Amino acid sequence: DYSVTLPRGGKDELGELAESIQVLADDLNHMKRQRNEFLASISHELRTPLTYIKGYADIAAKAGTTPEDRSHYLQIIHEEATKLSGLVKGLFDLAKMDENTFTIQKETVELCEFMRGIHSRMAPSFNEKNIALNFVCHGEVYIEADPTRFEQIIINLLDNARKYSEAGTATSMQVFKKSSTVHIIVKDEGKGIPEEDQAWVFDRFYRVDKSRSKALGGSGLGLAIVKELVEAHGGKITLSSKNGKGTTFEIII
Ligand code: ADP
Repeated sequence: DYSVTLPRGGKDELGELAESIQVLADDLNHMKRQRNEFLASISHELRTPLTYIKGYADIAAKAGTTPEDRSHYLQIIHEEATKLSGLVKGLFDLAKMDENTFTIQKETVELCEFMRGIHSRMAPSFNEKNIALNFVCHGEVYIEADPTRFEQIIINLLDNARKYSEAGTATSMQVFKKSSTVHIIVKDEGKGIPEEDQAWVFDRFYRVDKSRSKALGGSGLGLAIVKELVEAHGGKITLSSKNGKGTTFEIII
């Protein structure tokens, strides 16, 4: 860690200078720790699927493995490789966002039609899990947005709503206009996010329930990317949630 050894605490100029240098040093130390934690998370996240891939490749290659077992192992290898490539893509997107080399191509988008399209593409995967997917949007609502990136935002929120909801519940998508803002709401009746975790879920790799989220195929990067993308559109995203009762995400643009 960086630290300052100039005399401190005095009221003279040197004391003040030492104090402000110490503030800078604290910032640098904090950034260094964050970077190290982030790198540690990345290597952990990459290592887990690689361990599965290596392990299952080894047993699939063993003499005496039945064709059924082998195809089961190959399927696991395929799933883990898919996770890995999703993770690498997410990390790559975030790295570009951090460097400001990430560009969005805005155009005028009519949100009701846009969201209706997403609704009809996503509804089957909700119905498969016996979750209703509702959609409300009246008239025409225009925003400037990058259609590919905006779709990524909504699909990420919907994927989470489906992942963390049980059969028999409903998820709803809603779009409406207030005087000068457009509001997009994705609301589920799923497991909810405990109050003490709510401030952290937009952080990279943060998961409320690690094992459950991983079993559901989560990388822990989804909401971090969503937040960056919403901000790249000049918007804000907030959440409200009651543990066990469901979660509502609201995007305001
Ligand atoms: P993951 O890939 O693990 O889903 P995300 O960044 O998308 O990562 O979400 C971070 C964490 O926030 C999740 O692991 C989960 O614990 C929690 N979470 C996100 N969306 C929901 C939701 N709709 N309902 C309950 N928990 C959620």
